[in-house]
Amino acid sequence: MQYQRSSSLFRSAQAVIPGGVNSPVRAFKAVGGAPVYIEKAKGAYLYDVDGNILIDYISSWGPMILGHAFEPVIEAVKKRAERGTSFGMPTELETQIAELAVQMVPNIDKIRMVNSGTEACMSAIRLARGYTVREKIIKFVGCYHGHSDAFLIQAGSGAMTFGIPNSPGVTQGTARDTLLAQYNDLESVKNHFKQYPDQIAAVIVEPVAGNMGCIPPQTGFMEGLRKLCDDYQTLLIFDEVMTGFRLAKGGAQESLGVNADIITYGKVLGGGLPVGAYASRDEIMDYLAPEGPVYQAGTLSGNPLAMAAGYTMLSYLNQNTEVFESLEGKTKSITSGISSLLDKKSIPFQINRYGSMMSLHFTDQPVVDFRTAALGNNEDFKAYFHGMLNRGVYLPPSAFESYFLNDALSEKDIDFTLSAFEDWLKNK
Ligand SMILES: *Cc1c(COP(=O)(O)O)cnc(C)c1O
Repeated sequence: MQYQRSSSLFRSAQAVIPGGVNSPVRAFKAVGGAPVYIEKAKGAYLYDVDGNILIDYISSWGPMILGHAFEPVIEAVKKRAERGTSFGMPTELETQIAELAVQMVPNIDKIRMVNSGTEACMSAIRLARGYTVREKIIKFVGCYHGHSDAFLIQAGSGAMTFGIPNSPGVTQGTARDTLLAQYNDLESVKNHFKQYPDQIAAVIVEPVAGNMGCIPPQTGFMEGLRKLCDDYQTLLIFDEVMTGFRLAKGGAQESLGVNADIITYGKVLGGGLPVGAYASRDEIMDYLAPEGPVYQAGTLSGNPLAMAAGYTMLSYLNQNTEVFESLEGKTKSITSGISSLLDKKSIPFQINRYGSMMSLHFTDQPVVDFRTAALGNNEDFKAYFHGMLNRGVYLPPSAFESYFLNDALSEKDIDFTLSAFEDWLKNK
């Protein structure tokens, strides 16, 4: 397959957009080469500017869970757009989507709409700090909660050290309030609680991690976090930007059987338009302005176009919960197909999967946290990524990203994908 026009468009973009992209994950830094420029997409397929057709395994990083250009969503957006796209005043649609979300997720009373997952997580932390009157938070190395300052912190040397910023521009002061723990390691969390028993406002976690590949929580890990948070009167925040409305109607909370205090959403919730949200019980949500003292606002929050897309998406998922099983079944077909092909080749690998999230790591060690995810052989991953791209399959362009399947994917597409993989392996 040829990607000349994509390469040329990327060169033009680099002159006027930093790095040529509006979000770094699109730039192919981990795999090399120029990103693929998209002309249009429908169902499971991407149509690029060079005339290639690609089977899509990222689904816009999650939102297109029912496939691209899903007819009911497109219709709802068109209809809504004709009547005006933003008012800065309330619409009934905002109440409708909130009612639906509250019905789908049993342990939330109220939900506040924002414009991105980043905004949702940033606001959730402010709310937790305001509510608990505490300043520190615990986050896990390798978990991504958007690009706000408090979360751009990486491990120093060991779990007990203060975080150091991993982006210039994040102050030492901010970094000091973010304590780092290891995913699937309760001891690393306990140590922080022992040291700061009455200073930790919240523990924020991806209930199924998806930003260091897919890493499911080990048995007891989420339950352990829940108990620690209860013991120390700390709020547990589930970042369900990726898992929400993907793993089940009630997200990871339902799927894992563990309830958080504040839950953040994004991706699927917006149906492909820019939406994030955070939700909790009345007692906590009533701390938000204008009801309470914690301020958070947004000119385009609850935007009618975005709400029309989101409402249509959620309604469909609410009425067709078999989608979640269908997606899981498709994901299993991929993982078992890839496993059996790799087993024959005796190439070291790990496949992680939870629901419709999955990732492939070229390492012989179980991938349970950021450290073990980083052991993967990146040369193999690069070859795999480009090998699949050249055969018409678009995978996440980094070993640290989860695949996002969409339900438009057919059995034929899955067979095609596995044949492409077999062909790549043969020529490796
Ligand atoms: C994508 C993502 C975010 C950030 O959402 P944006 O809409 O990109 O700001 C936050 N948390 C998780 C778990 C995510 O996957």
